[in-house]
Amino acid sequence: QKVQLAAAREERILVLVRLRPLSDQEIVANEVADWECINDSTILYRNTLREGSTFPSAYTFDRVFRGDCSTKKVYEEGAKEIALSVVNGINCEYGYWHLASIFAYGQTSSGKTYTMNGITEYTVADIFDYINRHEERAFVLKFSAIEIYNEAIRDLLTSDNTQLRLRDDPERGTIVEKVTEEPLKDWNHLKELLAICEAQRRIGETSLNERSSRSHQIIRLTIESSAREFLGKENSTSLAASVNFIDLAGSERASQALSTGARLKEGCHINRSLLTLSTVVRKLSKGRQGHINYRDSKLTRLLQPCLGGNARTAIICTLSPARSHVEQTRNTLLFACCAK
Ligand code: ADP
Ligand code: MG
Repeated sequence: QKVQLAAAREERILVLVRLRPLSDQEIVANEVADWECINDSTILYRNTLREGSTFPSAYTFDRVFRGDCSTKKVYEEGAKEIALSVVNGINCEYGYWHLASIFAYGQTSSGKTYTMNGITEYTVADIFDYINRHEERAFVLKFSAIEIYNEAIRDLLTSDNTQLRLRDDPERGTIVEKVTEEPLKDWNHLKELLAICEAQRRIGETSLNERSSRSHQIIRLTIESSAREFLGKENSTSLAASVNFIDLAGSERASQALSTGARLKEGCHINRSLLTLSTVVRKLSKGRQGHINYRDSKLTRLLQPCLGGNARTAIICTLSPARSHVEQTRNTLLFACCAK
């Protein structure tokens, strides 16, 4: 009984919350910060007078990070253990995992991209450090990046606009056909690739954040390794593991749908992938009862092995402290509570 409990706990989605500081523009516009992290696990809404007594004011999660916390701290104390679990998997060390995912969920401008880019950089630095300390094995670290926009998948490393397709591979699960996989040379190379992704993601954007608020970005690092003495020989076994960094579309795209009860339609404000992800996460947290429709969206189909499978997953929910954003902040916290 005890063993089973421990395993179940490991599989649970880790839920982290990160509050950002008020931006300079918000300060100039006399915005007020209504949210405060009172300890490492509780965030409090302080403007209770306005909301009345039915409004819950304290929310508790695995870990909450205050507005003045650095991304380094969020990485070290929140995401690192999960991001690097795949490196242990490669080496068959204790805590054996082949797949890990870190999601950023939150409204547009709450800090998803800021957080995910930083965490991706720290992870790559740590993986290179690991590779350099293990010269007995040969490693290849590969980088790929896609965008899901209106349920169409696009490669963010090429300027080619063709839609990529998902295919079910008997060995590797659901894969993106013909996606560019770039072997990473070093940390500076990663910075270059992230800049390319950022530029590709903004193509066609007419206003600030317009497209990136509607699209999901999935960066995948795949690490392959084999023992040096078997390199290039037949029957040499190589090990592979991946970690995904998912910068989701702005969560306002999901809550609009939920609050208006509008039907799911392509091309409108509502985001099928985000809505399906919320449904899947909600069902998983209730103990995996009933059928889970992973195939209802591209995002959940691709990430099915990361959700409720044999994988480590963290969701970082990013929040704006501003009074004018209270509605979306509360929606994000409700999602975060569902994921616990
Ligand atoms: P999103 O991807 O959720 O739309 P961004 O990551 O682009 O939001 O963040 C919006 C703005 O706020 C950016 O200018 C970013 O640099 C800044 N920002 C976000 N989070 C933080 C933070 N924790 N500390 C300082 N600035 C932040
Ligand atoms: Mg963004």
